[in-house]
Amino acid sequence: MNPKEFSEISKLLSSPAQIVITSHYNPDGDAVGSALALYHILLQSGQKVNVVIPNNFPDFLKWIPGSENVIIYESDKEQAEDLLQSAKIVFCLDYNAPHRVDFMEKALVASPATKILIDHHPNPDTDAFDYIFSKVSASSTAELIYQFIEEVGLMKFLNVDAAKGLYAGIVTDTGSFSYACNSPDTYRIMGEIVELGVDAVKLHQLIYDNFSESRIRLLGSALGEKMQVLPEFHTAFIPFTKSDLEHFNYKVGDTEGIVNYPLSIKEINLSIMMTERKGLIRLSFRSKGDFPANHIARDYFDGGGHKNAAGGNSELSMEDTIQKLKEILPLYSEQLDFVIT
Ligand code: MN
Repeated sequence: MNPKEFSEISKLLSSPAQIVITSHYNPDGDAVGSALALYHILLQSGQKVNVVIPNNFPDFLKWIPGSENVIIYESDKEQAEDLLQSAKIVFCLDYNAPHRVDFMEKALVASPATKILIDHHPNPDTDAFDYIFSKVSASSTAELIYQFIEEVGLMKFLNVDAAKGLYAGIVTDTGSFSYACNSPDTYRIMGEIVELGVDAVKLHQLIYDNFSESRIRLLGSALGEKMQVLPEFHTAFIPFTKSDLEHFNYKVGDTEGIVNYPLSIKEINLSIMMTERKGLIRLSFRSKGDFPANHIARDYFDGGGHKNAAGGNSELSMEDTIQKLKEILPLYSEQLDFVIT
């Protein structure tokens, strides 16, 4: 986005308007955190703002201030559609194409509002948005919200409630500062967040030390029984069928982060978690170094994402999905063969 566009947006935001902030289907910490951060900033600036997301978000994010005001399209369709229809501005956060809001896509596309994208995923759908503020190098959309409000002159409205949302976005999208966190900007922004009065230790506990007993047992089973290691391809994967998940009283969010564990094995450079949901296998990819997990997701599993963190889907059975993966890995054997030194 160029300075002229920033000043156009700045002008657009200088008078009170109906604003809707949206984020992607199956919202994660960055989706909810960046949406609620922008919500508080715009509220402070005197706007009429609502956050509308396609479906519900995990309990470990419900401490983020403003969570109770989020409108879930799936359970409040009529209100959500009215808001999208009457909005003057719609912010699209942490996604880069309308299909990422899943069953909310039609309502989003039909909205006559000016659409502003703020996101860090590669290759945004440029036709779908009026303004695009997109940087693949950013740790998170939350980080870009900070840069955005700096550019459009809203920094004075960044309060502690908004800062808590930014914290949630940055910490979850970097795996507590373990990936996508090599830019000094990320730490400068985090410094500002703490300066504003955010208790970083407490919030980290609210996110990461807030699991149910069944989730920890699910993790135990994932690593102890389910994980398969393919040393020749520097890859490990964890398949979870529907009945495995039911056995552990699976709730939304319970599998969050499990995919990161196999990467802590020396010389494992690619980790994949497969979970069976509603007749579909959901795949989650994590990688080390320069290995492009998003290419496998994009080329073979109808998905995409970032270099080191991506997602996709498979309509095959679990068994066939594993078979497919085993056929794909040899194509990447050279790229997967490296040691982090
Ligand atoms: Mn993100």
